[in-house]
Amino acid sequence: MIKDVPRLNAFPIFMRVEGEVVAIIGDGDEALAKARLLDLSSAALRIVSADPEPALCEWISASSREHRAHDYSPADLDGATLVFAATGDEAQDRRIVEDARAAGIPVNAVDRPELCDFFTPAIVNRAPLAIAIGTEGAGPVLAQMVRARIDQLLSPSLGPLAALASAFREAAERLVPRGEARRRFWSEFFRGAPARAMDAGDAISAHRAATELLSTSTAAKGHIALVGAGPGAEDLLTLRAQRLLMEADAIVHDALVPEAVVAMGRRDAERIPVGKRKGCHSKSQSEINAMLVTLGREGRRVVRLKSGDPLVFGRAGEEMAALREAGISYEVVPGVTAAFAAAADFELPLTLRGVTSSMVFTTGHDLKGGSLPDWAKLAISGATVAVYMGRSVAADVASRLIDAGLSPDTAVAVVENASLPTRRRFHGTLADLPTLEDRADLTGPVMTVIGDAVAGANFEKSEPLAARRSIARTERQGADA
Ligand code: SAH
Repeated sequence: MIKDVPRLNAFPIFMRVEGEVVAIIGDGDEALAKARLLDLSSAALRIVSADPEPALCEWISASSREHRAHDYSPADLDGATLVFAATGDEAQDRRIVEDARAAGIPVNAVDRPELCDFFTPAIVNRAPLAIAIGTEGAGPVLAQMVRARIDQLLSPSLGPLAALASAFREAAERLVPRGEARRRFWSEFFRGAPARAMDAGDAISAHRAATELLSTSTAAKGHIALVGAGPGAEDLLTLRAQRLLMEADAIVHDALVPEAVVAMGRRDAERIPVGKRKGCHSKSQSEINAMLVTLGREGRRVVRLKSGDPLVFGRAGEEMAALREAGISYEVVPGVTAAFAAAADFELPLTLRGVTSSMVFTTGHDLKGGSLPDWAKLAISGATVAVYMGRSVAADVASRLIDAGLSPDTAVAVVENASLPTRRRFHGTLADLPTLEDRADLTGPVMTVIGDAVAGANFEKSEPLAARRSIARTERQGADA
């Protein structure tokens, strides 16, 4: 039990009374007050009054409610859901209370709280909206004061507006996606155009505004998440990536993303491979950009799944620019980039105290042309270099770095399929690196890490690259011949 919370001895509930018999017994003002109160409901009122006073008499004839013009007997409670003892006579009220309780019907004795099973609240009525104010019978005047204040605060149109809301509830549940969109719909409904029209007393316009709101809310806004899938192992996916995959209705993925990761999406999500596997026909980058824009315009929730981290050699820049230009919302979810997976597989510190304090993410493909790219200068000054897409240009990378002054003995680590059970690890020196180009057995993605920090890696599980150096040379000479 939570401490120090004031507790209610009478707990407010709303009771279904439509068509149910509510019996009121009495001849005077007390009975009339209850009759008026219950007249706010759609209950079937039964007034038991042998000799109604004039005001009650008038009310009864005006209201055409059931009137039993005889002295009270227990049979008058038959079939009732609620009973009000309002005779003004204590002994009589007590008898009615006992009869009601014997019949298992909750009973209220007017102005006799000690006899009551329930109390009637002061009510602010904006049916179907109702605000009930209770004081556990302690202060009816207080209840009326509070009632008056709340009554002032709330527009009379709130009732019809609430009724309109009931009429739209089913459609909203069917058409507006649960969560943020639905909250926005209702908030706009009760504050926006429908509320304003209803306030102006124009129920037809209010209905029209609500219909319009419904149709604009259902046009779900497209959203593209550029998600890093990590280096391949499913459990290197981030929790956020997994959640977005579960929510996506379309998954646009590169060839490098393993099927097992794509399969983490919803089963009914559309899967769109956009290739980029070497040598195979695949969509061009501008076709991919256009596809993302189209999906966004269609209101789809898309995960654009890229291997590793989307912002590292992922051409995410171009996709983001296209989305920005088209005004489509997007977000970026980072992933474990291949260099980090490779380093982990080699237990290789990418920064090493006293040895290297910077790192370069590069690709060998900018080596063409005369001048030495900046990253080569960084390598020479001791940075750890991670070479993406470097297998086919390994010889270039090596010779250019050596020409620039990096020692041929600089340590090199190579991983194919980093993070995956199929991974293969190789180690050697810069002088051995060119052998990579000739290895037809490396069919998976390959990450090369170069630098003095590599010497700190664990080479127990890796093969020497050099073992291949002589074979490769022989093969090449054979080919040349
Ligand atoms: N955005 C990706 C890189 C895409 S470029 C990332 O952050 O990792 C593709 C290159 O990444 C491949 O040519 C390869 O060099 C590298 N790569 C991707 N996955 C790899 C893996 N599992 N093992 C080794 N290298 C990988």
